[in-house]
Amino acid sequence: MAISDAVFLSAHEAPGAQSVQRCDGCGHELDERDAAPACPVCGSLLAIVHRAPADANGVALTGAALRERLHARCCGMRGGHGSGVWRYESLIMPTAGDAITSHPEGNTPLLNRARVQQFAGCDGLLLKHEGYNPTGSFKDRGMTVGTTQAVRTGASAVACASTGNTSASLASYAAQAGIPGLVFVPAGKVALGKMAQTLAYGARTLLVRGDFDECLRLVQAASKELGIYLLNSINPWRVEGQKTIVFELLQQLEWDAPDFIVLPAGNLGNTAAFGKALREAHALGLITRLPRIVSVQAAGSAPFAKGFSEGFTTRHRVQAETIATAIRIGDPASWDRAVRAIRETNGLVLSVTDDEIIEAKVVVDAAGVGCEPASAASVAGVRQLVRAGVIRGSDRVVAILTGHVLKDPGTLVNIHQERDDVAGANRPIEIDATVDAVARVISNSRSS
Ligand SMILES: [Zn+2]
Repeated sequence: MAISDAVFLSAHEAPGAQSVQRCDGCGHELDERDAAPACPVCGSLLAIVHRAPADANGVALTGAALRERLHARCCGMRGGHGSGVWRYESLIMPTAGDAITSHPEGNTPLLNRARVQQFAGCDGLLLKHEGYNPTGSFKDRGMTVGTTQAVRTGASAVACASTGNTSASLASYAAQAGIPGLVFVPAGKVALGKMAQTLAYGARTLLVRGDFDECLRLVQAASKELGIYLLNSINPWRVEGQKTIVFELLQQLEWDAPDFIVLPAGNLGNTAAFGKALREAHALGLITRLPRIVSVQAAGSAPFAKGFSEGFTTRHRVQAETIATAIRIGDPASWDRAVRAIRETNGLVLSVTDDEIIEAKVVVDAAGVGCEPASAASVAGVRQLVRAGVIRGSDRVVAILTGHVLKDPGTLVNIHQERDDVAGANRPIEIDATVDAVARVISNSRSS
């Protein structure tokens, strides 16, 4: 599949438009307010192409001028700029205006934790924790932009077919926008406990009599006929929002790019978005060199790692299985874009076992940081690459944690109360009701 090489619209393209939606496959262009979920000509994914930010006279901003503008917005509160997503409005949706539907979100920290650095063997490791977003995952960054698009196009409702972090985020932003949120899932196949957050935020959860494929067909048909805006993982505006993870971490590092950005990889939406963000940041002169993107898959769900090891000659599909449910995906939707991201940044793809994920998670959790299992894949991946000599102990590395520790309480109970084989498992201690017993616990804790 051919992917357009253009980074920004040139002067003679799409006159009068600030952004267009362009098909990855055939190059067909749609107005930025068109609600089509995919290319109407060939069915390929749509991508957003912007005009590069310019000053009041239409002269393109230099990297230095753009950095200054973004810095000035760090403390801005009006027009959504207090958001770590909408600060980058000119790079994600320049014409959003009053339609912005923001929690706000983003502004997630870059954490420096010695225990995690020691575990990974890399003193320069920082953790970009996306679990600090309002619904507890990185999905909020894409959802604020996708929901804004729904609002400004007058959608009757927003919808997705998902059981996890996506549906929780959609539910929250639909509530914020005051439009109905619809979540389609197969009846009888989904544990409603996983959807508790979605139900709490008030989205309509539709238990469809049929399998997951029938769910997807229904949500697509309904979106076409009923004016419902689809906020699935390939939505081009969600990709724009997810780019801000990279913009924000680069800004936090004062635009001095790290050597590596390491992230968990399932559907490859973030790998693709990170590639687009780095391409644009580099083209604009915000950064002068590209970090290497490292995508880390779970060993039981690693079609992209397999493809990488073969030079991406074949697109693989697998039967996915892993404890890290957020990256349990056998047929990633954003494969071609992710290949481009890895190639353009001289990146790497690897896989880590569920045991390695748990081992890393226990360390991240016990550092007082905490993350959901999929997130820990990035830290496990850094450790593996340090041991392989690819990442040096002195390299500057940012590992992305995608979700909050409370996203998967079942795994926590399993690790700390049920399994016998996890180092660092933290069992509750039953004691006699005496001060001596408490003193013994304290002294044991100090010596261990
Ligand atoms: Zn097309």
